Amino acid sequence: MLVAGAGIAGVACAGELLRAGVPVELRDRARVPGGRLASRRLDGRPVDLGAAYFTVDDPDFAALVERWRAAGLAREWTDTFDVYGPDGRRTVTGPVRWAAPGGLRSLVTDLADGLPLTVERPVRAVRPGPTVDATPYAGVALAMPGPQAAGLLDPALAGPARVAAAQRWSPVLAVALRFPARRWPDFHGAFVNEHPVLALVCDDGDRRGDDAPVLVAHTTAEFAAGHLAAPEAAGPAVVSATVALLGLPEPPETVYVHRWSFAKPAPAPDGTYHLDDSGVGLAGDAFADRPRVQSAWRSGRDLGRALAARLRPTG
Ligand SMILES: Cc1cc2nc3c(=O)[nH]c(=O)nc-3n(C[C@H](O)[C@H](O)[C@H](O)COP(=O)(O)OP(=O)(O)OC[C@H]3O[C@@H](n4cnc5c(N)ncnc54)[C@H](O)[C@@H]3O)c2cc1C
Repeated sequence: MLVAGAGIAGVACAGELLRAGVPVELRDRARVPGGRLASRRLDGRPVDLGAAYFTVDDPDFAALVERWRAAGLAREWTDTFDVYGPDGRRTVTGPVRWAAPGGLRSLVTDLADGLPLTVERPVRAVRPGPTVDATPYAGVALAMPGPQAAGLLDPALAGPARVAAAQRWSPVLAVALRFPARRWPDFHGAFVNEHPVLALVCDDGDRRGDDAPVLVAHTTAEFAAGHLAAPEAAGPAVVSATVALLGLPEPPETVYVHRWSFAKPAPAPDGTYHLDDSGVGLAGDAFADRPRVQSAWRSGRDLGRALAARLRPTG
């Protein structure tokens, strides 16, 4: 079996196949696993530039998270967020948001431990058979955003090609802002409603637990869509919006802009993965009514189980 994409969905899928005794190869085009659980080292410490946090309500995922917590890899961050809107600021409580002291990528790295992962090895073409870049496999899992999978799939693979192409995704710019010191109101994270630039601002030092003076701002999809060609040019607008929102006394010393062309899928509540007779499956957070880390993990796990079941003798 080949699993393409070592985000949390692909790593969960490959792990499930391996546990079922199925030989598996896991490939990612990037230099490191993690995908949108992305932690980039900036000024000597990892900063979470993809998912801001994760929440847990699936008992199986909760068991994994408990293992991460016991190992010191994951920590309960907060159940309290601010909400900024046209009527001002208020505080809301909700589900516990989890974070990772070493950055969220460290959780995928942990799950990938012991898996046969090759990085910097993009899949280029998936054809009937299924074959991947001319090598035949018993089955293939594409664990990546649908538009990226659609670009690999031969049109003769009509089922997965149609499902991948039908997904609708929106972009986000994630902007890391490092300040000289922590001089902002006491908060963990803030949802920002009806704002022309900002959708979310999180205190990265608070969530990671080292109190570094670093904020990460996520833009609205509309703002990001206007800056995909030159994301760095969006930095000044995000800086001034964040400084104004939080009433900060000084601008950041360093600014880093990360572009997510495919950040968030439209919810699709029908099933946790796609797999048909072609032997090419699709997994990821797009197969969920609430696209998020937990649903991506569950999607990959479920596709891995389904692919493994196909190799078992029936009767
Ligand atoms: C800005 C942002 C904020 C978010 N906030 C939250 C949040 O607060 N809470 C939450 O729960 N979720 C959040 N999410 C969503 C969460 O990050 C995703 O649900 C989850 O990480 C998706 O995992 P995945 O494995 O499905 O996909 P991905 O993480 O996208 O993994 C896909 C992988 O496929 C690889 N790949 C692509 N093309 C190829 C190829 N041709 N060959 C080989 N490999 C390839 C990529 O390199 C990548 O590693 C956020 C996402 C973003 C971008």
